[in-house]
Amino acid sequence: MTVSHLQFADDTLLMGTKSWANVRALRAVLVLFESMSGLRVNFHKSMLVGVNIPDSWLGEAASALCCKVGKIPFLYLGLPIGGDSRRLGFWEPVLARLKNRLSGWRSRFLSFGGRLVLLKSVLISLPVYALSFFKAPSGTISSIESILINFFWGGSEDFRKISWINWKSICLRKEYGGLGVRQLREFNLALLGKWCWRMLVDREGLWFRVLAGRYGVERGRLCEGGARGSTWWRELARIRGGGGEVGGGWFREHVSRKVGDGSDTFFWTDPWVDGTSLRERFGRLFDLAENKSASVAEMFMQGWEAGGGGVGVAASVVGLGGGDVGWQWQSDLDDVYTVRGAYQFLTSQDAVTLDTASGLIWHRQVPLKVSICAWRLLRDRLPTKANLVIRGILSAEDHQCVSGCGEVESAQHLFLSCSTFGALWSLVSSWIGSSLVTAHTPSDHFAQFTDSAGGSRARRSFMQLIWLAVVWVVWTERNHILFRE
Ligand SMILES: [Zn+2]
Repeated sequence: MTVSHLQFADDTLLMGTKSWANVRALRAVLVLFESMSGLRVNFHKSMLVGVNIPDSWLGEAASALCCKVGKIPFLYLGLPIGGDSRRLGFWEPVLARLKNRLSGWRSRFLSFGGRLVLLKSVLISLPVYALSFFKAPSGTISSIESILINFFWGGSEDFRKISWINWKSICLRKEYGGLGVRQLREFNLALLGKWCWRMLVDREGLWFRVLAGRYGVERGRLCEGGARGSTWWRELARIRGGGGEVGGGWFREHVSRKVGDGSDTFFWTDPWVDGTSLRERFGRLFDLAENKSASVAEMFMQGWEAGGGGVGVAASVVGLGGGDVGWQWQSDLDDVYTVRGAYQFLTSQDAVTLDTASGLIWHRQVPLKVSICAWRLLRDRLPTKANLVIRGILSAEDHQCVSGCGEVESAQHLFLSCSTFGALWSLVSSWIGSSLVTAHTPSDHFAQFTDSAGGSRARRSFMQLIWLAVVWVVWTERNHILFRE
């Protein structure tokens, strides 16, 4: 298979072997293109890039074409071509863009809610383009994460503050008690999995034919190509086959083949019965099989349907008529591959038991910054004086409550038992007419308070709102007193 050129919008890539005849032809093609289309080729913005070609020859050819000599890796449609995505240097432009975007924001002047929204929308969407094509090395993922962490906890990169809660917890999905920031490693895999899916369903595409020409196809599958494969391709083959990665063989385990008349489905190697291939389930039989590439229809014709055992299943599946229906993605969400669905799967966890209060911090009418404040309170990760003493930021004698009550300012004290701040709860209860809450920890208090005015959903939602509002008022008032002094 030969590819001579690639074109997208105003970007054109022409390919050829090293010869003066080709250089002259290139020149002629471009000049002819100019006169036929009336468009101008900007030779000064064009580059001649060589692969294993001496610089001297490249220089002469470039001057004959009136263009510059370029180097690998170069950017085509925003992606670096010819670099090694396993190297950290390859990702420098992505990190630089991220830092660039960040420096425009003064995160110190944003609330936690504002920072979270920015993190989720803009910052995370920036590296997506590169991540949808290349597997990022873990060093790069860590670098991106540390940029995000610094932004979230206090500002620009040069204004480092304490990370009160580890990044992993922040990235947990909300239903698991996190803030739902995207997990880059898993997201990267989900994006790349899309290519593995296209390999099955988009076999007419040019990219597939190029890969088929380069690596070959065996029993419907692109061959892995071993060590001579490109880094890009080897990473994809690893995801397709399920290497020692997050989730292991997650991709393989989710695809299955839906059989119609069985003519397009490989009997032994396609996962058409219960999502696994017969080759995996009956390895000894596969070794003995004469025709390892037989289709389901062929095997059926040979009378395999009459037998018992695993292969007997064929009878119930084959014979529905029409061609084979195709590949299916097996998940609760979709029957075709979606990045969202794969990401959901890769980040899902086995039965997580959250206490009642963790689920209560999210409320439609409550600003994000208030929910985040409550989220930190339930984990005792607010910068109360007691916590600042533990982290060595305040000296032990500076731990007094700002109200002047003389007690140590812990979260439990400030929000519940303080004679000044804590007294708010009995006032609120008497205004609303609910029973007084006696719980001693913030999370028990939250759960009990929410239930204290009766069980109807609207009542509970109202009480939830009040609790979050009181906590926010206490915290902001405490900060006013503290920083006014
Ligand atoms: Zn106090």
